[in-house]
Amino acid sequence: MSLVNDSPLCNGCLLLLLIVLLVASCKQRSASEFVSVKGPLIALTRVRVIDGAGSSAKDDQTIIIDSGRITAIGPASEVAVPASATTLDLSGHTALPGLVGMHNHLFYSTDGGARDVLATDSFALLYLAAGVTTIRTAGTLNLGRDIATKKSIDDGVSAGPKIHLSSPYVEHAAGQRFDPEKITDQINEWADQGVTSLKIYEHVTRAEFGVVIDAAHKRGLKVTGHVCAVGFTVAAQAGIDNLEHGLAVDTEFFSRKKVDECPTGNEWVPELTRVDVRSEPVQKMIQELVRRRVAVTSTLAIFESFLADKFQLDPRMREVLSEDAYNDCVAEIEEGKADPRWSRIWEVMLKKEMQFEREFVNAGGLLMTGVDPTGWGGVVAGFGDQRGVELLVAAGFTPEEAIRIATLNGATFLGNADRIGTLAAGKQADVVIVRGNPAANIADIRNVTVVFKDGVGYDSAKLIESVRGLVGE
Ligand SMILES: [Zn+2]
Repeated sequence: MSLVNDSPLCNGCLLLLLIVLLVASCKQRSASEFVSVKGPLIALTRVRVIDGAGSSAKDDQTIIIDSGRITAIGPASEVAVPASATTLDLSGHTALPGLVGMHNHLFYSTDGGARDVLATDSFALLYLAAGVTTIRTAGTLNLGRDIATKKSIDDGVSAGPKIHLSSPYVEHAAGQRFDPEKITDQINEWADQGVTSLKIYEHVTRAEFGVVIDAAHKRGLKVTGHVCAVGFTVAAQAGIDNLEHGLAVDTEFFSRKKVDECPTGNEWVPELTRVDVRSEPVQKMIQELVRRRVAVTSTLAIFESFLADKFQLDPRMREVLSEDAYNDCVAEIEEGKADPRWSRIWEVMLKKEMQFEREFVNAGGLLMTGVDPTGWGGVVAGFGDQRGVELLVAAGFTPEEAIRIATLNGATFLGNADRIGTLAAGKQADVVIVRGNPAANIADIRNVTVVFKDGVGYDSAKLIESVRGLVGE
């Protein structure tokens, strides 16, 4: 049958054709397109398990998933495989809990950091592809888009992680102040829209912390911050729940720090590289955070990108970045090589940050992790989360501890540890399958094959392929 005809219906035919094509192109991005394993009853056999609780990896385990939940997990000799189950022989593979990314924006920074671009759809797909099944957005540039994406994912229309919505940045220009009534109204409005956490930014002052935290806590919101005008100790005393990035952004040890002022241009960082993490002032700050149960979010992957001259772009980024964004990254690395002064400072700072994170955990602090795909654009959703786990191992944590930081600890902070964060009977079946053994070689965490979210298995390679060239557009 020819599409060309003389009948008066021709225009209608073309319209119909357009609709068919449109539906087909939308379908390309629908959740079901990426599903490779479907239940309801699934058996994962002969698989190594890293449980997310910090225990050593266990070989030759069986995991039974039924209707979205893990119903049994244990040695092959003890767990029976139901005859009707879809069975995956996973010898040579490892199962770990879906990662819980705690600083996982749905936007990206490009042009050497000069321009932020929304990456809501592509990042949602990339997070899931890399095994990140839960994210907290930790600050947004477009709450409406985040809400729509969350709804589309929760409704099963599009693929992506479970999203915990954060507010737009609570921030004002240097020297300005919030109207307490207005900011309280704004926080209530965000809470009504489904936001569960608030993100305070650099210029918020000590007095304002009180107003903002009070309003947020009244609505059951958790408060986190990339603080600057206020140091960690004061932020903890004001009742903040979480501090982003760690020691590298704490201005309280800067000799020229002025009350309620954020020093400009990272000028405290060179001095901070000479501060001893074991010294009394830093240890006191750590103790204050631990005592007040203030969690810290590790963002080592973005910090590593500040060593621009030595930094290796994740080779997988070439596929997912737009050509412009990729070229910007290459240019940024070249610039870092031409003038490596900041790179050298950050090289010391990164080591210091790693030491701080170990000390914080040793002291009993709750450390979580997230990618923060901003800076100049050196890290993207998902791949950067995996790099963050590798860097926690470089910092001195065992692979099992690093995975716990990236799974159970975030789940604990979100109040969801009864449902996600570990592989155990009764938990939601958020399970990442990787080729190899991350307990022996943490870089194997990159070899994701299938990501189960609520018992539905998504094909990682297909998800990555679907965002080819889209990040940075
Ligand atoms: Zn951030």
